[in-house]
Amino acid sequence: MMSTSLRQLATPVLALALACGSAEDGPPDPAELGAERPAPETVRDGPPTALWETVDALRESASAHYDVSDGGGRAWLVRGPDQKPYAVSNTPDRFEIFYEVGPHGIAPGGMVYFQVSPFWEWTTPQVLGPDQRGYTEVTAESPEIELHAETLDRQLLGIEVTGRALVEGDRIRIVYGAGMAGAMPDRYAERDSAFWIAVDGDGDGTRRFLVDSPTIDVRPGPAAGLVIQVPTLVRPGERFAVTLAVIDAWRNTGLEIEADVELEAPPELGLPDSVHFAPEDGGRQRVHGVAEKAGTYRLVARASGREVQSNPMVVSAEGPRVLWGDLHGHSNYSDGTGVPEDYFVYARDVSGLDVAALTDHDHWGILPLVDHPALWQGIQEQTRAFHEPGRFVTLLGFEWTSWIHGHRHVLYFGDEGPLVDSVAPETDSPQALWSALEGQSALTFAHHSAGGPIATNWEVPPDPHFEPITEIVSIHGSSEAADSPNPIYDPVPDHFVRDVLGRGYRLGFIGSGDRHDGHPGAYQVDPPQGGLAAILSEERTREGVLDALRARRVYATNGPRMLMRFALGGHGMGSEISVAAEGKDGELAGPLFVQVIAQEPLHRIELIRSGAVVDGVLTEGRLEVTLHREIDGLRPGESLYVRAVQEDDGTGWTSPIFLTE
Ligand SMILES: [Zn+2]
Ligand SMILES: [Zn+2]
Repeated sequence: MMSTSLRQLATPVLALALACGSAEDGPPDPAELGAERPAPETVRDGPPTALWETVDALRESASAHYDVSDGGGRAWLVRGPDQKPYAVSNTPDRFEIFYEVGPHGIAPGGMVYFQVSPFWEWTTPQVLGPDQRGYTEVTAESPEIELHAETLDRQLLGIEVTGRALVEGDRIRIVYGAGMAGAMPDRYAERDSAFWIAVDGDGDGTRRFLVDSPTIDVRPGPAAGLVIQVPTLVRPGERFAVTLAVIDAWRNTGLEIEADVELEAPPELGLPDSVHFAPEDGGRQRVHGVAEKAGTYRLVARASGREVQSNPMVVSAEGPRVLWGDLHGHSNYSDGTGVPEDYFVYARDVSGLDVAALTDHDHWGILPLVDHPALWQGIQEQTRAFHEPGRFVTLLGFEWTSWIHGHRHVLYFGDEGPLVDSVAPETDSPQALWSALEGQSALTFAHHSAGGPIATNWEVPPDPHFEPITEIVSIHGSSEAADSPNPIYDPVPDHFVRDVLGRGYRLGFIGSGDRHDGHPGAYQVDPPQGGLAAILSEERTREGVLDALRARRVYATNGPRMLMRFALGGHGMGSEISVAAEGKDGELAGPLFVQVIAQEPLHRIELIRSGAVVDGVLTEGRLEVTLHREIDGLRPGESLYVRAVQEDDGTGWTSPIFLTE
């Protein structure tokens, strides 16, 4: 019979948890990965924030010995004549899967594992409650075969071979959702959601996944919401695009609907009054207008009694252009939802982003990228295919998922780049990562630096060439400071970005989604739980984006597309100002300019000088605020930045201005 020890033996690949977590499921516990391992007896070198148990578990998994029978055989899904070839988000269904044993057989005591996606509400398969959701029937065709099935973990069913050995051609039939209640698929629509089959053929506790485990597409549910996005800054006389989308209750796209969406906009913008959606549009449309007259515009989209307002669009010849980017998110190539192609479609055609990077984990997922070069190849191909300079900039990237020094993102500004392994001892430090990137057009940034799944080891100074920016906010919350709205969970003292500026590090600020639901850039539906990067670049190209990131001409928000301007004298956000060159008697004084045009009413605007909030203005629900201040006594080593907080806690953070010698 199956025992606890069997489960322990299966540790090299335990049930997967989201490495980056999610707001909906609460903080993940990455330490669980190695929870059954004894604690190391000696104190290890490295930062106190390191999670050695996880590192050890991943290393053990990477060096596991596999029997020739592990991962053998094939599996497929059969849909009945009364069933659609796809499943529907959040709608119970029944799935019949066959597994056929491979040439090396399965010994008595060997195991077959059935695992549905660990994410987003797939029901855990269970064999005890026929009336309950997820009830699973496991049978063999041949009467001499004895099997014992048992739920081992969330979303994981183990099937032990308890009688005679299985030989090539023996079949196991798994009916998942066999009872009246069925089994619930993913709430997030995605292509190629896998029913993972893994085989431990010799019963030693080490299993291997079938790379071509069966998959099913999960389609969206009925229409339940609207999204409208406009550019933040448009020049007078310029043609601009309005991105419109009809989404379902879980903000999925891909709806095959016939609908007319009413568009309310001032006539001088030259937009149509109504936009028609045909089924083949997948619920996504794009229309164009021309901004003739300077001003701030907010458009309204309406359909079936629903109404939604766009972000503000400022038509002005002044100020830098703002590109919106989400530079950090995941697909089912690691621990997220959907395929890379769908990720980029959502970013471009639902969220109306200008810039997107898909950054799957090097080491975290059923099939780790580092062990499956075809997946990394696929990400490179899709990133290249979606890159359209002037309209939509895609960046190749991955998450260097170090459980020693904290997670870092690598972005490449060309079509190809190496995947650097965060677990291999030769590249497990930030310095080794930066060395591996020598000669590449690349940059890196740390994320959820103050806590969350793992805090950043800030004892290692960010490389001045490769790391000009940091992610201060994402779905995990804010790593800016403990007093910011929605601060990160499990904060580590002195690890907030505000503390880090005190170390003299000169970092610009971005926000990222770190979304695992296949919805990069989604905001209108869930403030203030997101993250976006505002990139100040006139050119919508990889070169323009790289220049802006290197110069820290960026600001961060937790989702709202607000316009933020901030300058000291003539120097904009991200600048370094030499006190010796521009000040007097070792000090500098000058006029500060702050402008915020928010998406929702503003609650307050604060100036943070060298680690402390020194000035705060309550803004009484205004949408637009301009402030002028005189500041003096600035000395080398100081920094200044602005935080703008909406009444709904939607927040923007400018990059700092740095005072140097
Ligand atoms: Zn992460
Ligand atoms: Zn992530």
